[in-house]
Amino acid sequence: MKTLLQNFRIVDASIDAIGAVILHDEIIRDVWVKGEAIRYDIGRMGIDRVIDGGGLTLMPAFIDMHAHFRDPGFPEKETLESASLAALAGGYTTVICMANTKPVIDTFEAAQALKHRSNALRLIDLYPALALTRSMAGTELASGFSALDLIRTSALKDIALGFSWPGPRYVRLCSEDGKDVADDALFKEALVRAAALRLPVSCHCDAGGHEALQAWEAGQPYSIWSRIEENVATERAIRLGREAGAHVHIAHVSTKEALARIRAAKARGESVSCEVTPHHLCLTESDAASLGSESYGRVNPPLRNEEDRQALIAGLVDGSIDAIATDHAPHTSGDKEHGSPGFSGLETSFAACFTELVGKGHLSLSRLSALMSVAPARLLRLFDRGAIEPGLLADLVVVDTEAVWHVDTALFRSRGKNSAFSGRALSGKTLMTLHAGSVVFDRGFGAKL
Ligand SMILES: [Zn+2]
Repeated sequence: MKTLLQNFRIVDASIDAIGAVILHDEIIRDVWVKGEAIRYDIGRMGIDRVIDGGGLTLMPAFIDMHAHFRDPGFPEKETLESASLAALAGGYTTVICMANTKPVIDTFEAAQALKHRSNALRLIDLYPALALTRSMAGTELASGFSALDLIRTSALKDIALGFSWPGPRYVRLCSEDGKDVADDALFKEALVRAAALRLPVSCHCDAGGHEALQAWEAGQPYSIWSRIEENVATERAIRLGREAGAHVHIAHVSTKEALARIRAAKARGESVSCEVTPHHLCLTESDAASLGSESYGRVNPPLRNEEDRQALIAGLVDGSIDAIATDHAPHTSGDKEHGSPGFSGLETSFAACFTELVGKGHLSLSRLSALMSVAPARLLRLFDRGAIEPGLLADLVVVDTEAVWHVDTALFRSRGKNSAFSGRALSGKTLMTLHAGSVVFDRGFGAKL
């Protein structure tokens, strides 16, 4: 099937121009922008479907390196289906889901089973993160990292990627997200094994050692000792990653000091990357206080101060921060009232970032696209997506950059209604999402075609 998307403002990391795109089944066949000669006689191309943007914006769909789908094990919070629908509503078609489910995803077989269940829904492209230790107990390596597994998986050559890939395709990232591996030797061993599989390790960075403990024992407030915790743990993850020869990806960086450590490691040429969440970019501890610091405003790491927030924005501007990831963490309202940390973030991520970063002139829309699509694609070695280029997967999102809307969590596809942006007015709305050339989400835009 051939689809023509015309009269769009086409924006990715390297394009921002009015133009058109032709899809052939699941692949982007051609892209042209105004001023370029149209290379085809559209009438003779046998176009089956035309989507006219009327000046709306077409971007590569977003790629989330960090979400909690709560499946298997916590259907009251979220399921594969509800999370996938939330992802699509937010413009995401590729998501890495964290392993802290019940049971924990700590074997290649469990990751493969989850991937198969997700594929059967035909909604998004899900990649389960693999836990570093068995049951995330922090006492022994997950079986995916056993010597036997390494030998077995190294036999799987991934010809489709054009190079020898020592691990299975459905695992792109390892993470003990939710906590760190406390034991240095075990953490380092996991990093060595992940490096052998060429898998980046996403680090949660909350093991603050005796420095954070001292601050806690001295009666320092949470805002102080949790900051020390993150800073010390970031330093530790970078050091152990360097010693192990692994690629360390720092999840949800939130303090200016942690960012400075990452920036310094990058300046030394170390294999380090990091992500930031929309809530840490847009909100501070005063927002947490008004939401309820111990309930609806609680998140790990906590919302920090204005100086940190400005430092994170500066980190996006100067390229120290590689990607934006949601840390989508759905909970029931009962769980939030009892202090479960995290926000339901997939459905507000683009609008929150667009409002704060593009709307206030910090970043261009192209740069935001890079942070939400091609940069995570490259970190995950998913070279077939993340941009609007011939030959890439037709994973696309139509956004209305003029729209202003109020966040109503009752309308969320996610079962988690715990949004940090609830009731806020945001600009920029996702209207339609295509995955592999198929329209998989449509907010009514299609009806107007
Ligand atoms: Zn997380």
